[in-house]
Amino acid sequence: MDWEKKDLQYIWHPCSQMKDYEELPPIVIDHGKGMYLYDIHGKRYADVISSWWCNLLGHCNERINGAVKAQLQQLEHVIFANFSHPAAITLCEKLSKKVPKGLTRFFFTDNGSSAIEAAMKMSFQYHYQMGDLKKSKFMALTEAYHGETLGALSASGVDLYSQIYKPLLLDCLRVEGPDCYRCKYGKCRDNCNAECFQQVEAEFQKHGEETCAFLVEPLVQAAAGMKIYPPVYLKKLRQICSQYQVHLIADEIAVGYGRTGKMFGCDHAAITPDIMCVSKGLTGGYMPMAIAITTEEIYQAFYHDYNEGKAFMHSHTYCGNPLAAAAAVEVLNILEEERILEKANKNALYFRKIITETFQEHTYIGELRGIGLINAIELVENRETKKPFDSSKRIGYQIYKEALKRGVLLRPLGDVLYFNPPLIIEEQDMDLVVQVCQQAINQVLK
Ligand SMILES: *Cc1c(COP(=O)(O)O)cnc(C)c1O
Repeated sequence: MDWEKKDLQYIWHPCSQMKDYEELPPIVIDHGKGMYLYDIHGKRYADVISSWWCNLLGHCNERINGAVKAQLQQLEHVIFANFSHPAAITLCEKLSKKVPKGLTRFFFTDNGSSAIEAAMKMSFQYHYQMGDLKKSKFMALTEAYHGETLGALSASGVDLYSQIYKPLLLDCLRVEGPDCYRCKYGKCRDNCNAECFQQVEAEFQKHGEETCAFLVEPLVQAAAGMKIYPPVYLKKLRQICSQYQVHLIADEIAVGYGRTGKMFGCDHAAITPDIMCVSKGLTGGYMPMAIAITTEEIYQAFYHDYNEGKAFMHSHTYCGNPLAAAAAVEVLNILEEERILEKANKNALYFRKIITETFQEHTYIGELRGIGLINAIELVENRETKKPFDSSKRIGYQIYKEALKRGVLLRPLGDVLYFNPPLIIEEQDMDLVVQVCQQAINQVLK
């Protein structure tokens, strides 16, 4: 069977120019184990991007497999309005002990974008039901990424994904976000007090009154190229949101679940958002599931006699799916019992060390930045001026192809190469991916 050919006969792949597949056909995976994928020809790939940032504890993890199999014997799915099941209840009870203090109510959706949509509608309806009819806008940062459905895409600010659809999108208030590598305030990471936050202050002065919520990716603007900013920025954001009665929606879909070294990005700033969205790592990357987690205050604004018409009339068919919930419960068990974060933080030091040693002097590497096990390498044409490469050269894409040949799955964001491995990565895996990355860079940028 020619799987590659058949794939191209039927499948329209996500986020791809399908014409590129003429030259680089889809890699058809037969099985996965730990942080490695094996294709149908027996070739191995180190999945150092966690298969789109969701695989948390390795592929085909024995314990998660077991939990899903056990659930499968019990119940595969049930309507989640009026009905419930032990896996979802257990998940919320366990997760309530991990999330920032004050987040107590769990609204399930079935993917990251849909959790963002739910959070936006929830925030709008809260203000509406509290009698604040002025609040109807959302605010977010430049280069934010919150998903691809129209509401979530409206909040996103990456032109590559949203430009064409502008006529369809909500009119979202856009604030210039932090850009630590190219800081306009002449600061570096050590002496920064989030001077750039004045952009947010100015926008709140103009539009705070009409704003429902501010959406933000805590600490790492991932799709923007793993742009990392300091916790003080989040602290200030929490403060100003409270001051203007604007909800803070923390999009922890990418950075939650230990990616930054703490359970959630918000934990670095010790803040509680009004709504926190989690997905990706939630089920260990096994199944689509997401939750918009919120406060008692928001929940109570919807809690009235039926005929007042204040319920949150929002649903998805697969809300709270039992198989996904069972996986998610087991993920929390593993994180705790196997002390995953503690080990990941130790390994993160080694990772940072070898990445620094290998790349810091490189002619075409402008910045190395990292938090937790996330590490990014920004390629530039000129280190002094930080001038990027001409994007039509597709340097990142060429490096991606070279790394693939050598058995490492990198998938850069433009010219930002990054590692965002499962938390179970070990020293020999780190050695391998760094070495291959170096070879691929040198091959392309001779
Ligand atoms: C992936 C992602 C989303 C969207 O989640 P999907 O499950 O792909 O819809 C939203 N926000 C962030 C920060 C993400 O990384």
